[in-house]
Amino acid sequence: MGGTEQKYIKEAFETNWIAPLGPNVTGFEEDLKTYLLTEKEVGVLSSGTAAIHLGLILLGVIVGDEVICQSMTFSASANPIAYQGATPIFVDSEEETWNMCPNQLEEAIKDRISKGKKPKAIIVVHLYGMPAKMDEILAIAKKYEITLIEDAAEALGSNYKGQKCGTFGDYGILSFNGNKIITTSGGGALVCKNNKLKEKAIFLATQARDDAPHYQHSEIGYNYRMSNIIAGIGRGQMEVLDKHISLRRAMNQFYKNIFKNIEGITVFEEPNKDFFSNHWLSCIIIESDITGFNREDLRKELLSKNIESRPLWKPMHLQPVFKDFPFYGNTVSETLFNKGLCLPSGSNLTKKDKALIAKSILDYINH
Ligand SMILES: *Cc1c(COP(=O)(O)O)cnc(C)c1O
Repeated sequence: MGGTEQKYIKEAFETNWIAPLGPNVTGFEEDLKTYLLTEKEVGVLSSGTAAIHLGLILLGVIVGDEVICQSMTFSASANPIAYQGATPIFVDSEEETWNMCPNQLEEAIKDRISKGKKPKAIIVVHLYGMPAKMDEILAIAKKYEITLIEDAAEALGSNYKGQKCGTFGDYGILSFNGNKIITTSGGGALVCKNNKLKEKAIFLATQARDDAPHYQHSEIGYNYRMSNIIAGIGRGQMEVLDKHISLRRAMNQFYKNIFKNIEGITVFEEPNKDFFSNHWLSCIIIESDITGFNREDLRKELLSKNIESRPLWKPMHLQPVFKDFPFYGNTVSETLFNKGLCLPSGSNLTKKDKALIAKSILDYINH
């Protein structure tokens, strides 16, 4: 927390705006819109998952439709496809950004069309804050006239060729869950092309109540709106977002320094200047045939020093719950999962913490 969060919450209490609407909600939405440097509209919601779900609903995804989704991601990217009774079609990653491979995406689309069904939407993710290859992905989406949802849950503040992540797709989604680059304890946002679509999203997110004096409903609604209290935390967090990003990026540099002369270990970084990652998490790839140890060996070693690290996201096509759905690709995401480790990346690590991390890693490598 930055400090001003409580001021906004106090204001909400003092003005009695303890409701899912109010000045903090509109204020947070304005702050996000300004930060994203976009003409698009932002609606704040109860979670990033809710934002993806509403995006799919607004794109008209219904039972029996097919939706293409990046396989290497957190399950929340794919679950809303199942909420709609649609079929997820998983696509492998490429090695540079670890995000959706444009070639495999096009293969998947062509094959699904040849099997009789054009996918209704594509969900692309900016993993660990790294922007996906958006020029290529957007060109394919346009070529086949398929709508795009951009899951920027991990990538607030990242940009591709100067354009902020979250503003590329037909819908963009953000998350303010407890573990993200900024947090409202829990929350999310949907970035919409215009105000009409935002209003529709908010209508669905607040139980789809028709314009009538009594409670009347012509559509199924959801309880997905962010409250004015939670939005107060968000407004305070916006004031520290850029600081958090520079601290996360400094953590990435910290690991680059540690591993710069270590053969067989690479730190995940931007492929070139077109990509700017918020480096939400810093990750490494361990080539065990060179290092003589694998990611589990290092993870357990660090854990014994009370340092938490974690394997990369396990691809969705390897998850028990999704294993029977189609997958297009090779073994890129599977290999990343087998070799990769997320290292402590928090904005609040102390000098002492960092010294212990560096020593523990180097002692282990040089043992
Ligand atoms: C966190 C996350 C989500 C879900 O956001 P919530 O606010 O936790 O619902 C979706 N996709 C990705 C890639 C995430 O990391």
